[in-house]
Amino acid sequence: KAESGHTNTIWFFDTELHKKEDLENYIERHMNQALRDGEFEMFLQPKKDLRSDTLAGAEALVRWRTTGGRMIYPDQFIPLFERNGFCMQLDLYMVEQACRQIRVWLGRGVTPIPISVNQSKQLFFKPDYVQALKAMVRKYGISARLITLEILESLALENVDALNGIILQLHAEGFRISLDDFGSGFSSLNALSRLKIDELKLDRAFLLNLSPQEQARSQLIIKEIVQMARLLSIATVAEGVETAEDEGMIRALGCDFGQGYLYSRPVSAADFDRIFMQGQLQNGPSGKEV
Ligand code: C2E
Ligand code: MG
Ligand code: MG
Ligand code: MG
Repeated sequence: KAESGHTNTIWFFDTELHKKEDLENYIERHMNQALRDGEFEMFLQPKKDLRSDTLAGAEALVRWRTTGGRMIYPDQFIPLFERNGFCMQLDLYMVEQACRQIRVWLGRGVTPIPISVNQSKQLFFKPDYVQALKAMVRKYGISARLITLEILESLALENVDALNGIILQLHAEGFRISLDDFGSGFSSLNALSRLKIDELKLDRAFLLNLSPQEQARSQLIIKEIVQMARLLSIATVAEGVETAEDEGMIRALGCDFGQGYLYSRPVSAADFDRIFMQGQLQNGPSGKEV
């Protein structure tokens, strides 16, 4: 049985694979087969609307469940997939899983909530990217408005004009764009003002266990960002909301949404469905992820 959390040291250690190259070789030899066999699984984590206290959406987070029953977390393979290009296929696969889930909700006659999917830089700048996404939502007969594309702050910084060009095309189809891990890099509020995004997600570093001094600083920064975002009609999401205190703080600072263990860990689609059908988010960690 897999352990919960991300602290389980690389599971290869209990095999003969000790070196980092061995691990990477293993992953690269198995990734294509794993994708074909459906070993990559979409977990979902709820996003809470802080004004209405309701479930507002979900973020899709990939997990690799091996045939051996082990769970591998994205930090162990996404950086590698970004280097070898495999993330382009995997990210599109995740978009498809999100579309499929929304289709399931529609089929049941319930109003679906939007799902956010993380997109790698390579995929986002691929020439046929917008067409591929368009084909995907059409295939599942869902509105593009139900799919939010999350891109990293670091990607946004590099070429604002090129990025805005792609965002323009995606907006024309109805997709929404979210800037992930905002505040983790060196983006200025000026850069933010030039980006045509719909939402920004404050990096969870702002909510990590901080000294009182750091906390005061963190609050000032969040306040600035949230005010700026509001002026630009950009929604704000605080990531890493783990405690009621965290929630109280981000609420007081004017964040629109919260996401974090306080509401739920990322859970399997089946488990998420139970939260979804309940229609209400209860506070309190939902225990183990797996
Ligand atoms: P992210 O997009 O910023 O996702 C949020 C991460 O924070 C997730 O880690 C989530 O499990 C974790 N998290 C959520 N709430 C809390 C909390 O309250 N406290 C703490 N300490 N952590 C929390 P995860 O699932 O391990 O994903 C890590 C990163 O891997 C993601 O960061 C994202 O950048 C990347 N990733 C995940 N799935 C995909 C994918 O399908 N495609 C791509 N390109 N990247 C992905
Ligand atoms: Mg994300
Ligand atoms: Mg993030
Ligand atoms: Mg992150």
